[in-house]
Amino acid sequence: MENVLVVGAGFMGSGIAQVCAQSGYRVYLMDVSRQALAKGVSGIKWSLEKFYSKSLLKESPQSVLARITTENDLTKASMVDWVIEAALEQEDLKKQIFKDLDRLAPVHTLLATNTSSIPITRIARVTGNPERLLGLHFFGPVPFMGLVEVVKGEQTSAEIFQRGVRFVTSLGKTPVKVHKDLPGFVMNRIFSAAFRECVDLVSAGVVSPQDIDLGMRLGYGWNVGPFEIADNAGLDTFVRVGESMRALGEDQLVAKSDLIKKMVEGGLLGKKAGKGFYKYSKDGKKIPGEDG
Ligand code: NAD
Repeated sequence: MENVLVVGAGFMGSGIAQVCAQSGYRVYLMDVSRQALAKGVSGIKWSLEKFYSKSLLKESPQSVLARITTENDLTKASMVDWVIEAALEQEDLKKQIFKDLDRLAPVHTLLATNTSSIPITRIARVTGNPERLLGLHFFGPVPFMGLVEVVKGEQTSAEIFQRGVRFVTSLGKTPVKVHKDLPGFVMNRIFSAAFRECVDLVSAGVVSPQDIDLGMRLGYGWNVGPFEIADNAGLDTFVRVGESMRALGEDQLVAKSDLIKKMVEGGLLGKKAGKGFYKYSKDGKKIPGEDG
């Protein structure tokens, strides 16, 4: 059985840990916050039970959970085949994590980051083995979304890139191959360009977020509207990604308005807080007719 270390047990890290365990990998889920670990594991359990009740799981939730162990530090990097980092979107933090991982992990171990915006090449530069680092950009909620961008940094080796593609396929996901390492890669650049306009139109009082979501669903065939996507992802993560994009010189992909930053300062973090552009019940369901 191959071993995976997932760094960060938040919205993305817990989802990544779940799909890896569901696909038969032994998973070590690490976070600096014990509270985040407890919340991550209880979210995985809840999700596995839902899948099981709908006959979408090949084995019992308990046997999947038995392949997941929680960790408070990175020492398990010394015995895994894969590391996927999904900690906060802060460049300095990620660089420190990869410096440590590069020191701890054997040379055959692949190091992947789930960053939404930071070029892989910038993170790889702090390591002694930049050829083994690549981007695996999952989409959330990870157990439901079929796409993973596989991103080649300037120094990522062709062999590692191919192993990345095979790993994604082994999780039952579909890889989109990104051959040049731009801030935000491909999917986030496209979404950010659209979302920037959405936020600025709402801030200018032209339209409500709810009507934009309706319009994009009915007019353009999106399954989920842009503000629903933002609520699902976490508005605090959106603020961090926007700050990171600006720091990387990509102002044209970030809204001029500080609407989302103000919402986060007011505790409106999206679904995880029960309130964002919409209101949510305790089990994460949108409350019909109630805007955030
Ligand atoms: P989150 O806030 O839900 O989780 C981040 C976790 O990182 C927290 O539990 C925090 O305690 C932990 N953490 C902080 N410092 C750490 C450290 N030194 N070591 C280990 N863990 C640490 O954020 P998220 O939404 O899960 O995002 C995680 C990453 O995935 C970010 O880089 C984000 O840009 C990216 N991403 C997010 C989405 C999304 O939809 N939210 C989609 C794709 C990619």
